[in-house]
Amino acid sequence: MKKRYLALLLFLIFAGNVSFGFQIVYPKKQSVTINSDKTFFIGNEKKYKTLKINNTAVKLHPSGGFKHVVKLDYGQNVFIIDNGEQKQTFKINRPIPAKNSSTPPQQLKAIYYENPIVIITTKENVPLRSTPVDAGLNRLQHLPFGTEFIAIGEERGFYRVKLGRDGFGFISKDSAQKFDNSVISYANIQYSAHKSNKDEKLVEISLDKKVPYTVSDNNSGLDIALYNIDNHLYEKYEDHIVGKPFGYSSYYNNDGTLVISMKNFPKVNPQYLLKNLKITIDPGHGGSESGAIGCLGDKEKDINLEIAKNLRSKLEKAGAKVLMTREDDSYVGLNERVEKSNYFNADIFLSIHNNALPDSAADRDATGTEAYYFYPQSKELANILAKSVTDKTGFKNGGARGKSLAVVRNTQSIAVLLEVGYLINPDDNSKLINKDFQDNVTDGIIDGLERYLKQNGI
Ligand SMILES: [Zn+2]
Repeated sequence: MKKRYLALLLFLIFAGNVSFGFQIVYPKKQSVTINSDKTFFIGNEKKYKTLKINNTAVKLHPSGGFKHVVKLDYGQNVFIIDNGEQKQTFKINRPIPAKNSSTPPQQLKAIYYENPIVIITTKENVPLRSTPVDAGLNRLQHLPFGTEFIAIGEERGFYRVKLGRDGFGFISKDSAQKFDNSVISYANIQYSAHKSNKDEKLVEISLDKKVPYTVSDNNSGLDIALYNIDNHLYEKYEDHIVGKPFGYSSYYNNDGTLVISMKNFPKVNPQYLLKNLKITIDPGHGGSESGAIGCLGDKEKDINLEIAKNLRSKLEKAGAKVLMTREDDSYVGLNERVEKSNYFNADIFLSIHNNALPDSAADRDATGTEAYYFYPQSKELANILAKSVTDKTGFKNGGARGKSLAVVRNTQSIAVLLEVGYLINPDDNSKLINKDFQDNVTDGIIDGLERYLKQNGI
């Protein structure tokens, strides 16, 4: 018994030291390389202690959390963290840029072919981009395996492809290959038809080969364009689906028919706005992937899941049908989350996250809620949720922001990713772990969803 007590006592002392003070959660190790002119120390200390980093006092939040920004010189930077009783030493290496790199600079200049060539995609879901850069919001469309393009040149590892007579886009060279023994030829449209039922409006276009196409949404419908089409002005065929989109998808059928389907807004009952609405809740990260780590040591994945579960129970009480992309602390890939939601045929996809900052923005005084979307159709809900959540929580409203994030880009429904707060901000962190605060967050989400449906449901 005595031994047990001693062990327990030692454990409590040890746990106390580790969890409730003198804890640095970032940088994650005492010897790291950071390629930035600044970074920050994030962690917590017992409130009554004074904490210094290289003799500069660290400002402690009432919760004990802190975020302390430091400048980095090239080479080795040494930081001594001192709470008056103990010291920790961090060595941060900022790499010195190489002066005369021996590797030749990448071929950045555009090359134009003497004669255009035919290339064909060798993967599914290949991004067609507006610029030869593998990042950001430059995606025009995702195209399937076997789509035929006419390439007129190359640039920065991309083929420059024709989109009709005057337009062009870019396809990564590792997602397509030259189609041997082929001559340039345009596609023929065999027929096209508009159809509709109570749930959706459809366009079917039958072709003799898979050509590049784009579908873009706005508040009054979908604009569809097919490129490299024979017997059409500018080698382009255009069509439209009229009505406000509530999610849409496009795909080639096995018989070569391109199908574009746009969901109608549901007819809602003003008494039970959320009844029967299909909602995917996507708690960010999980398992081996912790996401951001808060000043107080909390992991983003755990807070995301707590908020998600709280939201699920409120939505189910209101009669909604809910799919969770994860229910526990397990790892789920981004594609799997998207596939689950698309298979569920969700009306709304809502991803729950909490934010951090990169080293290069360490000195930004970031706080509050931001709502991210990719397609214009989701901007309205993103705006409403950013406002409805911050109305309930008192957090700063960071508004709706367009960003190319996989979960909101590949889902076929209205999709928003909510960054509820900044875990690297001590004040945000201390609130985000509070159950009452989390309850306010989900009240705000419910309010926002209801407002969105009310102003759109017919
Ligand atoms: Zn996250």
